[in-house]
Amino acid sequence: MRIDLHTHSKVSDGTDTPTRLVMKALEAGLDVISLTDHDTFDGVPEAAEAGKRVGVRVVPGVEMSTSVANSSVHLLGYGCDVHNVALSTELQALRHARSGRLPAMCVKLTDLGVPVTVEEVREHSQSARSLGRPHVADALVAKGFVADRAEAFDRYLAEGKPAYVARYNTDLAHAITLVHGAGGAAVIAHPWARGNRDVVTASLLESLVEGYGLDGIEVDHEDHDLDTRRLLFEMGARLGLVRTGSSDYHGLGKEGHDLGCNLTRKSAFMELVSRIRERGGVV
Ligand code: AMP
Ligand code: ZN
Ligand code: FE
Ligand code: FE
Repeated sequence: MRIDLHTHSKVSDGTDTPTRLVMKALEAGLDVISLTDHDTFDGVPEAAEAGKRVGVRVVPGVEMSTSVANSSVHLLGYGCDVHNVALSTELQALRHARSGRLPAMCVKLTDLGVPVTVEEVREHSQSARSLGRPHVADALVAKGFVADRAEAFDRYLAEGKPAYVARYNTDLAHAITLVHGAGGAAVIAHPWARGNRDVVTASLLESLVEGYGLDGIEVDHEDHDLDTRRLLFEMGARLGLVRTGSSDYHGLGKEGHDLGCNLTRKSAFMELVSRIRERGGVV
């Protein structure tokens, strides 16, 4: 069974519609996917519908923007009731913060000699309910200032680069509580990506398991080298965490993240399903 539990559509910063994503999952020989757009469930109904039509199981998902000690951590929520009021209200606040920072980023880019307006960013994100830096990157590409999203992040948009603007994130522990409250299972995405090894420590994970019932960590991810995967796999086993693997597919928006390039083992998936069922979630 081929299971890929972390993918994006153009409802956030991927480049495929949810339907096209499911068709590509079918072509890639996947049996199960989760659509985990950033801070929105809006693509889930379309993906689920397409999945039913073609025989790909689609688990409702979301990738929440959270933080711990001022560092950004992504939390995957699986099997949540997409209509849960507390969770939807928080996701709305996150999306509001995403669009709220666009003017400040555009001002910075303009000052840096690569002028981009909020309207231009919006033109490049017409299907997106959740606006992110990749859409700003697309506007920079369209104007010929950079070659691709990666160059836009390297030169301007990544944390610490001159056009970076911070935004509101949900507290990680609170986000886990919200996911559970909506019946779902909570899995930390790419825990050691981009310098986060000192943030998502063994002791933090232990406190999240004991205090908040964190369900899992994503181990097999392109941002983790083999050593990292081995260490996370062992650490997760010690803490009783479900260990997943996934592509973090973004369509043409992110190279080297082809659908199915990392997979979740069937036993790990079944454990997630059983936790979601126990909480009354949707799977
Ligand atoms: P934001 O949602 O605005 O915080 O932007 C983060 C998103 O940008 C994440 O989904 C990443 O997948 C994407 N991203 C981060 N770094 C890069 C990069 N170097 N090239 C392309 N996309 C990136
Ligand atoms: Zn993304
Ligand atoms: Fe992420
Ligand atoms: Fe992602």
